[in-house]
Amino acid sequence: MRVAVVEGDGIGKEVIPAAVEVLDVFGLPIEKVPLELGYGKWEKCGVAIDDDDLDVLKSCDCVLFGAITTPADPNYKSVLLTIRKELDMYANIRPIKPLPGVTGVTGKSDFDFVIVRENTEGMYSSIEEIHDDVAYTKRVVSRKGSERIAKSACKLAKERRNDLMIVHKSNVLKSDTLFLDVCRETARSEGVDHRDMLVDAMAYSLMTYPERYDVVVTTNLFGDILSDMSAALVGSLGLAPSANIGDKYAFFEPVHGSGPDIAGKGIANPIAAILSMKMMLEWMGYQKEADLVEEAVGKSILEKITTPDLGGDASTIEVGRAIANYIKDML
Ligand code: ATP
Ligand code: MG
Repeated sequence: MRVAVVEGDGIGKEVIPAAVEVLDVFGLPIEKVPLELGYGKWEKCGVAIDDDDLDVLKSCDCVLFGAITTPADPNYKSVLLTIRKELDMYANIRPIKPLPGVTGVTGKSDFDFVIVRENTEGMYSSIEEIHDDVAYTKRVVSRKGSERIAKSACKLAKERRNDLMIVHKSNVLKSDTLFLDVCRETARSEGVDHRDMLVDAMAYSLMTYPERYDVVVTTNLFGDILSDMSAALVGSLGLAPSANIGDKYAFFEPVHGSGPDIAGKGIANPIAAILSMKMMLEWMGYQKEADLVEEAVGKSILEKITTPDLGGDASTIEVGRAIANYIKDML
């Protein structure tokens, strides 16, 4: 396996080395290909990502990614959107699972669900018409796009508790009737138990009864909002991992951005990046190693080796090293 390692900007440069230190403990046959992308590169070369970079990415099986700063400059082309599109990674996967000893806004810790967000169409179709007094954004829902995200969600549900929640707003948005119908058909043919809920009701329910859900599938904008909201159930932005998955390629990144306010201080929590690396191990089929990473992360929190966002005084490097050492002890 070849992995492109993109640290990116800001705290990406701090949390990714910590995740790589943990990965290296296993000594797996994984070739790491470092690649510089993002705002730092843009300042130096005038581009944040070029065709050569895309060739390097395409020569790899997946990417481990930190974060990049996206300036408001209209000439700046978003690296993430470019990669997502070029490599056709249509499923954004965000597990929402509490870690031992940390609770989020609701104080609950008995939930474990995954949000599967369609990543290529919906409200983020980029089909827009802007005039002085009116502006339009076209919301695109296609059968093909809905079918492939429904299939990803069903595959995940079958590996988990076989319970799919389809989230939509088909009472108002007629485009969502297609999404709902296709998701239902797919779940039926895949033998997955399924229900559906309107997105507004779902937002309330996720915050009130998060334990009721297993796999939640939805369109692009709703998924974007629900997944950030759900991160508040877990506790810190520094704990939330994610994956972008296509048919061939995958991309793993912490949910947080480049943290410009704390960059360079060595205090960013590396756990979101380490758990993203754990998702990469799972995707590669290294389930045993992935489980060890999760166990070691839990241990580091219980033993209070944590960064300031969790109330501790350890540095990014110290947390990464402690997790790597717990794994060494368990191997
Ligand atoms: P960007 O423009 O790159 O998305 P941002 O300003 O949106 O940056 P985020 O990185 O999304 O910032 O972070 C939001 C807040 O959460 C910031 O106050 C940041 O310091 C904090 N934060 C983000 N990631 C971490 C982390 N890994 N550890 C600790 N705090 C974090
Ligand atoms: Mg941000």
